[in-house]
Amino acid sequence: DHKATLIDGKAIAKTIRSEIAAEVRRLSETYGKVPGLAVVIVGEKKDSQSYVNMKRKACAEVGIKSIDLDLPEDVSESELICKVHELNANPDVHGILVQLPLPKHINEEKILTEISLEKDVDGFHPLNIGKLAMKGRDPLFVPCTPKGCIELLSRSGVSIKGKNAVVVGRSNIVGLPVSLLLLKEDATVTVVHSRTKEPESIVRNADIIIAAAGQANMIKGSWIKPGAAVIDVGTNAVDDPSKKAGYRLVGDVDFHEASKVAGWITPVPGGVGPMTVAMLLKNTLDGAKRVMEL
Ligand code: NDP
Repeated sequence: DHKATLIDGKAIAKTIRSEIAAEVRRLSETYGKVPGLAVVIVGEKKDSQSYVNMKRKACAEVGIKSIDLDLPEDVSESELICKVHELNANPDVHGILVQLPLPKHINEEKILTEISLEKDVDGFHPLNIGKLAMKGRDPLFVPCTPKGCIELLSRSGVSIKGKNAVVVGRSNIVGLPVSLLLLKEDATVTVVHSRTKEPESIVRNADIIIAAAGQANMIKGSWIKPGAAVIDVGTNAVDDPSKKAGYRLVGDVDFHEASKVAGWITPVPGGVGPMTVAMLLKNTLDGAKRVMEL
């Protein structure tokens, strides 16, 4: 019976966090300063709050200072822009993260464009995304979840160069940037989205599958080429009365079927999720190093 190698994102993220903590200590001893990350949340959306708390806690654990800004749901767009400008000018802040989604009365694109390029640790500034898309250009920051996917592959010994990679999903925060990163890593990339015809036959060609559609168990075992590396970004809540919460999280890939066919596979939870936070810390560290080690 074939069993795919499990890519343990939780363990890999832990290793990365300890590498970051060591670097933060070195910076602190050398320059008497630690990296700072501004974590901005608008409103009281439950899942946004839990993501923000997770990020703030993760900062504390590696010695990064989190500068916390909790703004009311009805904050105006111009007030929020003003706060972003203050953080842009604050030398203790090396990274600025504005938790998405923002309330409807605020133009998300406008806010993300106001964040200083040098502090854009989420990598969502259009200029950073644009450079990610261009040959021979390097963005200052790469979006965290896509960067985490590539890191999982490389730390598991999966080579990307010359491979067929299929990305399922084309969102600005996951699907699109991960496809651009794979292209930079010399994969041959195909992007599948909701208007794609016969996604199954396309996915079946993939040596590397990045699933980011937000559709529970959409990708079946029969869709997977034997030996392929499967990175499952999907995080979907499905009803499960046997759980205290009444639900459990599953990926976009049918894990049970897929692990009998794939060469490597990430679990959900415990795969990409922990890597996203680790890459945010890494981006903040890199941003601080760029300033401190001039
Ligand atoms: P979006 O809803 O923004 O994008 C989903 C993408 O998948 C769209 O491009 C959509 O196509 C495509 N899609 C939807 N249904 C299908 C389908 N049936 N077949 C093919 N393509 C489809 O989601 P996000 O990119 O923000 O997130 C994707 C998943 O990743 C979610 O489950 C989310 O929870 C998870 N996530 C996990 C993170 C982590 O750290 N682990 C971080 C961020 C997200 P179209 O463009 O045509 O609409």
